[in-house]
Amino acid sequence: MSTLNPYQPPTTRLRDALSAEVGGDCWRDGKELVVRPGCTLPGRCIKCNAPAELPMRHARFYWHHPALYLAVFAGLLLYLVIALFVRRRTPVTIGLCARHVQRRRASLALAFAGMALAIGLIVMGAQRERFDVLFGGTAVLLASVIVGIIGSRLLVVTRIGENYTRFRGAGAEFLATLPAFYRTR
Ligand SMILES: [Zn+2]
Repeated sequence: MSTLNPYQPPTTRLRDALSAEVGGDCWRDGKELVVRPGCTLPGRCIKCNAPAELPMRHARFYWHHPALYLAVFAGLLLYLVIALFVRRRTPVTIGLCARHVQRRRASLALAFAGMALAIGLIVMGAQRERFDVLFGGTAVLLASVIVGIIGSRLLVVTRIGENYTRFRGAGAEFLATLPAFYRTR
């Protein structure tokens, strides 16, 4: 048991501050969000810092070293198998406000509608041997997939290291509320 000592040297307080920092699990580093795996972010929207809709969402992020993409040249299947084994995983609990939840749903709905339209065009183009329709359908399909991926992603992993994971895509106002990350790792 420690008792409160008004004469304690300030180094103790410094040590307390440092251990609080070490015990934390999310920080800002410039425009990047740095977390420990399994961290629960503060209950505010990661995009605009408004109060988060509850319950907050559990998300899993994966990452592997970018050099591994070279394995694609040896074969897509080989790449996928290696990536499945060596990829690193970070679970994070994330807050989004009602407006950003809505925006995410809207872009997913748009992407699915686009994909349905695209499949219709591709089938019709193939049946009638209309290559312009077939080509148009393929373009709509690609655009819909891109809208779906960009519109639904919460954060983009830049690196998953031994102890910390870095993300892009968090809002500046949200990041400003987090302590600064100062370690070199
Ligand atoms: Zn928001």
